[in-house]
Amino acid sequence: NKTVFHFGGDAPHDDPRQKDKTVTGGKGRNLAEMASISLPVPPGFTIATEECLRFLKEGGDFGDGLRSAVDEALRHVERTVGKRFGDAADPLLVSVRSGAAISMPGMMDTVLNLGLNDETVQGLAAASGDERFAWDSYRRFIQMYADVVLDLDHGLFEEALEIAKEDAGYYNDTEMSADDWKTLVAEFQRIAEQELGRPFPQDPSEQLWGAIRAVFESWDTERAKVYRRLNDIPHDMGTAVNVQAMVFGNMGDTSATGVAFTRDPSTGERAYYGEWLVNAQGEDVVAGIRTPQYLTSARREEAGADKPSMEEAMPEAFAELARVFDLLERHYTDMQDIEFTVQQGKLWLLQTRNGKRTAKAALKMAVDMVGEGLIDEKTAILRVDPMALDQLLHPTLDPQAPRDVMTKGLPASPGAASGKIVLDADTAEKWAHRGEKVILVRVETSPEDIHGMHAAAGILTARGGMTSHAAVVARGIGRPCVSGASQISIARAGAGEDRTLTIGDRGLREGDTITIDGATGEVMAGEVATIEPELAGDFATLMEWADRHRRMKVRTNAETEEDCKAARRFGAEGIGLARTEHMFFDASRISAVREMILAESEAGRRAALDKLLPEQRGDFESIFRAMAGLPCTIRLLDPPLHEFLPHSDAEFEDLAESTGIAVEKLRRRAAELHEFNPMLGHRGCRLGITYPEIYEMQARAIFEAACNVAADGEAPVPEIMIPLIATRRELEILRALVERVAGEVFAETGRTLDYLVGTMIELPRAALMAGEIAEEADFFSFGTNDLTQTTLGVSRDDAGRFLTPYVDCGIFARDPFVSLDIEGVGQLVELAVERGRGTRDGIKLGICGEHGGDPASIGFCEKVGLDYVSASPYRVPIARLAAAQASL
Ligand code: ADP
Ligand code: MG
Ligand code: MG
Repeated sequence: NKTVFHFGGDAPHDDPRQKDKTVTGGKGRNLAEMASISLPVPPGFTIATEECLRFLKEGGDFGDGLRSAVDEALRHVERTVGKRFGDAADPLLVSVRSGAAISMPGMMDTVLNLGLNDETVQGLAAASGDERFAWDSYRRFIQMYADVVLDLDHGLFEEALEIAKEDAGYYNDTEMSADDWKTLVAEFQRIAEQELGRPFPQDPSEQLWGAIRAVFESWDTERAKVYRRLNDIPHDMGTAVNVQAMVFGNMGDTSATGVAFTRDPSTGERAYYGEWLVNAQGEDVVAGIRTPQYLTSARREEAGADKPSMEEAMPEAFAELARVFDLLERHYTDMQDIEFTVQQGKLWLLQTRNGKRTAKAALKMAVDMVGEGLIDEKTAILRVDPMALDQLLHPTLDPQAPRDVMTKGLPASPGAASGKIVLDADTAEKWAHRGEKVILVRVETSPEDIHGMHAAAGILTARGGMTSHAAVVARGIGRPCVSGASQISIARAGAGEDRTLTIGDRGLREGDTITIDGATGEVMAGEVATIEPELAGDFATLMEWADRHRRMKVRTNAETEEDCKAARRFGAEGIGLARTEHMFFDASRISAVREMILAESEAGRRAALDKLLPEQRGDFESIFRAMAGLPCTIRLLDPPLHEFLPHSDAEFEDLAESTGIAVEKLRRRAAELHEFNPMLGHRGCRLGITYPEIYEMQARAIFEAACNVAADGEAPVPEIMIPLIATRRELEILRALVERVAGEVFAETGRTLDYLVGTMIELPRAALMAGEIAEEADFFSFGTNDLTQTTLGVSRDDAGRFLTPYVDCGIFARDPFVSLDIEGVGQLVELAVERGRGTRDGIKLGICGEHGGDPASIGFCEKVGLDYVSASPYRVPIARLAAAQASL
C-alpha cells in the first residue's frame, strides 16, 4: 500500500486513500483537497497514519520503504519549489506537522524552518536579502526542534531570549536585530550542546527524520492519551505526518500569519472572524507572545483597537482571503477554521477544517445555512450535538442583577459561571471532586491544564486572545471563558502559604468566589443572579425541524406544576413519569405520611390516608391542568416506607405530639420497619399488595382529580403505572384494585374517562416474563435505572467507589447509569418489547429512566421501536433533537 502522498504543484490528488482522513489525517487530507481545487497551498507530502502505528509497534524503526518514499517525495517538493533541501546557496526549508484523523488541537507537535544549519542560514540570508529574517528563522527552528525533537527544557531557551532582550533594553521580539539573533543562535547552540552532550544536529536529513520520529512518538505522549480519553478518541488510529515547504510570515511588514474562521465561532454570525500578526511566524498568534490584531475593520472598530486590521493593512491579501473563505465554505458546506500566512503580499493556506463552535453558534449556523441553501434541513439537524444544547438551556447572568465588575477581558466562550478561584489545574480537579464549583484562573493555559479545565465551571486567563488555547478548549467543552484579562496578576506563593492574586485593584485569594461572563468578558466579585434562557428564534426553528423528522414522542419526568410548565415550554408532549412519593416529603404532609406508616392497623392507616387524599388530589389536579389533556403517567408509591420515617429526636417528639402516640412506641415501630437491603425490600407493588389501602387512596386521588379537571378543562388521560412488578399475578391484583376504584369514582361523579393501567419493566424477571405480564398491562415503561441496577447487580448509590476505575479499565465503555448498557441491559429491553408486543399488539412502550435524556440511549430506543422517551424537563429539547437524529 502506498503510504506517502504528494500534494501541491503538479501532484495528482485523486487517490481515494489520500482523501480518507483515517489514512492521511484531517490536516493532510484537507491540504491535498485545497491544492486540488487550486488554492495556494505550499507543496509537500503526507506520511500515512499506518506508518506511525508500524513505527510504534516495531519499536522505532522507519523501514526502507518509507525512507525511499520520503526521499522521492522530497525531490518532488524540491522540483515544485525550485530549491533544494540542504542547499547552502538557497535552501528549501520545510515544516514537519502532525495531523490525526480527529483533530486534537495543541496536543501534538510541529517543527518549522527545518533544514536550517550554520551554512544554509547564510544561503537563506543571501537569497532573501534579509539577514534578520534568516537568523530569526534559525533561532525559531532551534527553539522548536530542541523542545519537540530533542526534548530539552524550553524554559532554558526562553530565559536566554529574555536575558538578551533585557540586556539590550528591548520590550518586543521585533526589536531584535540580525546581529542580536545571530548572537542568540550561538547561545542557543551552546545551551543545546551542554544539555545534549553533543552539538545541535546540522545535517538536514538527520533533522528531518528526527522530526518525523518525534511526531510519530507524540501520538503516545501522556497528554495526547489523556486528551483522547476525555474525547472518546480511539488510541489505535495513529497520526499522519505532513512535511511541507515553508512559506514565511516573518519576512517584514508585507508578511504576516493568522488564524481565521469563516463565521463567528462564538455567536455563529456570518462575519469573518480571526486574528493575525504582522511579521510573525506559526504559532505566534495562538501562543500569546504578542497581542494579535483583528482581521476585519468592523471588529477592530467595535473593540476600539488602534493597531490596524488586516483588511486595512493588507487589503489585497485580505480580499484574496475573503474569496477563499467563501470558496471553502461552499466546498465543505460548513464553517471553516483556517490557518494562513502571507509572504511578501502573497497569501498561502496552511490548514482548513470544520471549525469548533459554541452550541449557540452551531445552532445559528445550521439554521442560517439552510436559509442560504448551503445545506438541507436534515443536515442541519445532524449538525447540532444534542448535548451541546444543554449550554443554551441553562441560565445566563441577569442583566438587572447588581454586578461588582473588577475587570474585563475578552469574551472567549459564552455562558456565565460563578465559583471559587483556583490557581492550578490539580487544585481545580481536587476541589471539583469534593463538590465545589471552581473557576480556574491562570496566566494562560496549556495542554497540561486540560483536566483542570474540565473540572472547572469556568476559565479565566490573564493572557491570550480569542483563539488562545484557553479559548479554543473552553468553547469545545462548553465552559464559559474570559481570556486576556490583563489586569490580573497572580502571586507565586510557596506551598502552605496563602495563594493570592490581584484582579484590577482588588486583592483576592484562592477560594474566594467570583463570577465570569463569557459573553461580555466581565469578571465580577461574588456570585451574580441569573435568568432563564430565550427559547425563540433559531432554537425554535431547529426544534421545529427536529419535531418534523422524529418518530418517537418526547415526554418528561415531572411531578410539580412548575416542572410541568418548564417541560411544556421545552416541548414535552406528556408526562412519562410522575413520582407520587415526591409529594409525600412536603413539610405539611410528612406527619400524615408518618402517621400512616407507623399505624399498627389498617384502620389507623386509613385514618391517616384520609388526610392525604385531598392533598394528593390537589397535586394531580395541578399536574393535569398544567399538562392540558396530554397523557400523564403517574406511578403509584414506590420507595420503601422507612424512607419517610423520622430521624432525629425532635422529629420523633413532634410526631408523638401530633399523633398522641408515645415516642417509645413510635421508635419501636420504626425499628420494625428497618430493612437490610431496602432497594430489594418492601417497596413498589409489594406495598400495594400488602397495604392495598395506600394504592386505593392514590388511585382515588388520581380519578377524582381527573374528573374534576375534565369538568371544566381539558380531560386528562391518566396512565396509572405500577412499579417493580416481577410477576403477572401482582399486576392482575393491582389492576383489579385500580379498576374497582375507577368504577367507584365514575359512579360517584357520573363521569367516565379513558385511562390506562400499565407497569414499569425494571426487574430482569419482568423483562423475561413480558409476554405474560402484557396480558394485564396497557403499557410498559422501561425503568432503566432499576433495570440497570438489578441486571448488573450494581447499586447506583454505591457505585461511585468503583465506577471510575471500571470505566478507565474499559470494563464499562461509559457509566451505565448515564448511558444505557445497550449490549447487556439493552437485550432485556429488546426482549421485553418483542414479547410484550407478541401478546398485545400495539402495547404502548416508553422509557422513563435517566437514559431517556441520553442521546446514545435514545438512538437505541428508536432502534427497538419505543413509542416515546421521557426525560427531565431541561433534557426535553436534547431528547427531541436526539430522537430526530436517531430517525434520520
Ligand atoms: P497545530 O496542529 O498545532 O495547529 P500546525 O501543524 O498546524 O500545528 O502548525 C502550526 C502553525 O505553524 C500553523 O498554523 C502555521 O502557521 C505554521 N506552519 C506550519 N507549516 C508551515 C509552513 N509550511 N509554512 C509556514 N508556516 C507553517
Ligand atoms: Mg502544534
Ligand atoms: Mg494548525
